[in-house]
Amino acid sequence: MSLDLSILKQLNNILKNKGYYYKNFKSYLLPLKDKLPLEISQKIDNIITKENPETSELDDIVNDILLEIYSIKRGDYNRLKEPLVIKFSNFVKTLEQLKKIGIETAEDIIFHFPYKYDILSSSSNDRCVLTGTFEDSKIVKTKNGKKILEAVFKGDTGYFYGVWFNFNNRYPLLLLKKGENYNLYGKLQNFNGLPAIVHPEFLSTDELGKIRPVYLLPENVKDNLYLSLLKKVYMEYSEHIVETLPLRLIIKYGFLDLKNSLRYIHFPDNINEFKKYNLLSHRRFVYEELFYLQLGLFIRKNSYGEVRGIKFDIDKDILLTLKPYIPFKLTDAQKKALKDIFNDMKSSKQMNRLLQGDVGSGKTVVAFISGVLAVKNGYQVAFISPTEILAEQHYNNFKKLFKDDFSSCLITGSLKQKDKKYLKALVESGDISFIFGTHAILQEDTIFKNLGFVVIDEQHRFGVMQRKILIEKGYTPDILLMSATPIPRTLSLTFYGDLEISIIDQLPPGRKPITTKAFRQKEIGKVFDLVKEQIEKGFSAYFVYPLIDESDTLDLKAATQAYEQVAEFFGEDNVGILHGRMKAEEKNYLMNRFKNREIKILVSTTVIEVGVDVPHATVMVIENAERFGLSQLHQLRGRVGRGGDQSFCYLVYSDKISEDGLKRIKAMINYNDGFKLSEIDLEMRGPGDFFGTRQSGLPDLKFSNIIKDTDILLSAREDAFEILKEDPYLNKPENRILKEMLKFKWKDAYELVNIG
Ligand code: ADP
Ligand code: MG
Repeated sequence: MSLDLSILKQLNNILKNKGYYYKNFKSYLLPLKDKLPLEISQKIDNIITKENPETSELDDIVNDILLEIYSIKRGDYNRLKEPLVIKFSNFVKTLEQLKKIGIETAEDIIFHFPYKYDILSSSSNDRCVLTGTFEDSKIVKTKNGKKILEAVFKGDTGYFYGVWFNFNNRYPLLLLKKGENYNLYGKLQNFNGLPAIVHPEFLSTDELGKIRPVYLLPENVKDNLYLSLLKKVYMEYSEHIVETLPLRLIIKYGFLDLKNSLRYIHFPDNINEFKKYNLLSHRRFVYEELFYLQLGLFIRKNSYGEVRGIKFDIDKDILLTLKPYIPFKLTDAQKKALKDIFNDMKSSKQMNRLLQGDVGSGKTVVAFISGVLAVKNGYQVAFISPTEILAEQHYNNFKKLFKDDFSSCLITGSLKQKDKKYLKALVESGDISFIFGTHAILQEDTIFKNLGFVVIDEQHRFGVMQRKILIEKGYTPDILLMSATPIPRTLSLTFYGDLEISIIDQLPPGRKPITTKAFRQKEIGKVFDLVKEQIEKGFSAYFVYPLIDESDTLDLKAATQAYEQVAEFFGEDNVGILHGRMKAEEKNYLMNRFKNREIKILVSTTVIEVGVDVPHATVMVIENAERFGLSQLHQLRGRVGRGGDQSFCYLVYSDKISEDGLKRIKAMINYNDGFKLSEIDLEMRGPGDFFGTRQSGLPDLKFSNIIKDTDILLSAREDAFEILKEDPYLNKPENRILKEMLKFKWKDAYELVNIG
């Protein structure tokens, strides 16, 4: 049966005022009786004969009704998944075209929403209606033998054309009768100096003034044909459209039920109706999408919580033993993050926490301290970095801070087989506590004696997959993900809603803001001079060239030429070049020379390899800066300014810079704050591009824009949270709809395993 709002409202009342309902059940149940299936109405008949039925009997009835109403009949909804060609074979050509934009089933077309609405009138500017009497027509032959039909109409304000490049003798010629009135609709153009519409649609007079939804369609699918198909599909399938949101949420926000919302989206009859319901209908879909997203993420989060983790012992005494290792005072933000992490570690739940903070905000130290505490508890720690160079850097930094008081090792692909085997044996026997490397150490056959803590640096979603691998191998360590891509809070909620989040929003004291300046390519001489000043003061510099594709020989050539230019100016002995095709050992060798000041300038074609910590490097020159995204630019800039000395970032851009490229560079000059920059980035690129959903491992957001729809996102999140607090497995009848929808729509996307 379909969702009947009046029954649902009534039920909602019952659920809200249970006590009152028990006393006055007759007045509640009687009006419902006729609307319910026989089976239930018989039960009602039965119960209203009783003077004082048990409350449990009454509960049973309510349950039955709820189940009846809320159960989504899979079979029915599945009908919407039927390919349209089955029932609409006369639209076969149109359907072939629609396939190109992913429309194949009834569901596809019904949920393909218009991107705008036109009013069918003469005044709308892009597409409009021209009304006039048909005067005459002629067929003109073009140079290449094509025939064009030009029809002249006389309207109130003068003559206009209807033009057809493709026509046959039946259409539209047969249709046009001299002296009769026609309404031509389409894109307004200019033809022979007169207004014209090419391939117009003829509108009947009663269509004038109505609202016309406009859809993104393949070029050769005509609007009116599409609309008539859509209407037919809707009629045919509307009985199978079952409500997908619980009634109490529909009522809470004053939404319309699904079927009506769809009706007002696709077939707004008149302007008043449109004004009243269209926005509301759209809101419903935005809400629904974000609601299920949050619900899915919460469920996933709960499932993490079900994994029994390790209960670490962390007390003041242990913390005091660590104090001597840290040569500086932690910032308040670092302390707060540590407190969050300690609480997770102390609990028996498995930790899944994301530590966010700008480059250089001191995340690594926080991870080290937490890891060392795990070691003090007798466990092993794996510290996973995205590249070998970064793994080595973390390893070295760790040794610098903690000396050999904690056994540690670095396992990378460039190790000799023999050495690798040896180290792995030590890991297996538990002789080494702190293991640094890339994700290969988790994926390979490394066996840990007792892995208790894992840090995953800079790999966001990827870390969530690692978690699965670890659990499959029987490890349930606490997991700390680190990210230097600061993203606005709403985005974190959306994409990391299944993780706990700590944010370090403060840089260590004494950091001087980096001075950022932009130069045109032809001003590169000036940049060289500025860099020279710093080199002469004993500092070092990076030059970065974007190589989108390391195998692109043209790009590589450009980078090599740029290197030669730099080498010529600064002296070959002072400059080294680092590129992605080099072996790890070569890269390490070069990096070490740079760190030891044997070379003063590092020219690099890869971005990630620059992720090193060299405090005496004070200049970052980014060439072709217009080719980098904002977050990349910010990451690169974060490689300088790591000591106490004033640092500089010079953005060099070519003349081919786009408007957006210029905006990015301006943003870099104006802001040092990564959060601010990521907000700008998000605004410029839109959420889809900002975080390719493919990478994030989440379903696409079709209706919502999480920047604009923040308020809806937050309400949806709160609702999802409340519901799961009461009913974590969605077993109550009133939540059945949620469970069904999650399974039906989102199960794969969320890898939800624990909703049955
Ligand atoms: P992130 O991992 O967030 O990029 P790091 O942990 O690598 O940052 O810290 C950057 C630099 O700042 C390191 O050299 C680190 O030793 C130093 N540092 C970290 N925290 C502090 C602090 N509270 N006070 C002073 N220096 C700090
Ligand atoms: Mg770091």
